[in-house]
Amino acid sequence: MKLYNLKDKKEKVNFSQAVKFGLGKKQGLFFPKKLPVFSKKKIQTLLNKKFVSRSQEILSILIGSEIKKNKIKDSVKSAFNFSGPKIVNITNNIYCMELFHGPTLAFKDYGAKFMAQILSCLNKKENQSITILTATSGDTGAAVAHAFYKMKNIKVVILYPKGKISDIQKKLFCTLGNNVTTISVNGSFDECQKLVKKAFYDNEIKEKTRLNSANSINVSRLFAQICYFFEIFHLLPQNLQNNLVISIPCGNFGNLTAGLLSKSMGLPIKKFILATNSNNTVPRYLDTGIWNPYKTISTISNAMDISRPNNWPRVEEIFRKKKWNIKELKYGYVSEKKTQKNIKNLYTKYKYISEPHASVAYTVLKKKINPDEYGIFLGTAHPIKFKDTVEKILNIKLKPKKNISDILHLKDLSYNIEPKFNALKKILLKK
Ligand SMILES: *Cc1c(COP(=O)(O)O)cnc(C)c1O
Repeated sequence: MKLYNLKDKKEKVNFSQAVKFGLGKKQGLFFPKKLPVFSKKKIQTLLNKKFVSRSQEILSILIGSEIKKNKIKDSVKSAFNFSGPKIVNITNNIYCMELFHGPTLAFKDYGAKFMAQILSCLNKKENQSITILTATSGDTGAAVAHAFYKMKNIKVVILYPKGKISDIQKKLFCTLGNNVTTISVNGSFDECQKLVKKAFYDNEIKEKTRLNSANSINVSRLFAQICYFFEIFHLLPQNLQNNLVISIPCGNFGNLTAGLLSKSMGLPIKKFILATNSNNTVPRYLDTGIWNPYKTISTISNAMDISRPNNWPRVEEIFRKKKWNIKELKYGYVSEKKTQKNIKNLYTKYKYISEPHASVAYTVLKKKINPDEYGIFLGTAHPIKFKDTVEKILNIKLKPKKNISDILHLKDLSYNIEPKFNALKKILLKK
């Protein structure tokens, strides 16, 4: 597969390079030169297959011959080795697709685990050690740490803002040890991200370690996420499939990008709805045509507290290439009060325990869906990950999941540093 840099179209790379580099020159995103389109018949054959074998085929076709087909197949099989997506009926025409049955209880497991398998496969050829360095506001850290845990020749270093992630989020990755190093920073997520960016431009670090950021702009993560949009059509009854609207809770807009890519490949999704919390740069942009990010606000759907969504240029590129009208994209943003109210409604009216991110998507879906349409909102995280918030709103106690109660007593192995570059550099060079 060939990809080009959205900021400098002369820069062209293949898939392996795009995975290794992450970003291109001028921090530009890579985008596929050609988007494969499947015929109706091909789609039907694919939909008859099971999740893992279908995903193996989709990703093999997407990536092409530069990685051996059996390597891609093995990578998909090892990556998607947990119980896959589930669809739950909520109202007469609304469903939730739960993407949180992986090891770290968020959809990010799909992308992070596939990326880890592909990188390790590419790295085996070169037999050098690489360091994955990334900053997290909660879910990415856990997904990345688990995905690369105990992999040979790969070290993982994750920074997070001290005191700003939930206890369960922290236990999921700061207790692993082995090849995973975690660092709590006395500062904000933005400060963590600044330290990480600086490391990528430091000559001494560059010389002594091979860095990769594994963040959500990596194409391998996006491609893996395409697979669960196909699964929707495998799981839903045929009669609901022609009028399907999908609502996505957006932060960095990776999930929406993957959904649009699946549609561009021929999946008959009628419409997408993008839903944000009060960090509503994109909804305001679609209203006014002016890109004007405000300062990031903290909300209870904290994985979406992003005011400069990195993947947005990719969304626009898909619309441009497919000659789709961006006006077909429905959108909305949701206040904290409404988010809480609908977590409560989902429980009292439909006996469904949700969490803030899914509630944001449900809220906009309910408002925008027509009576003759069927709607799916993505359940991006397990409610237990936001235990305190959900318990307080619903006034109930959530049953702890077994794999969670097992880790709660484990020791936090994190280093703690001030937001100073030298403190990070010392740890990186020692590792
Ligand atoms: C990361 C995340 C999101 C946002 O997804 P993007 O692909 O960045 O738009 C939404 N919900 C949860 C629970 C997340 O972890």
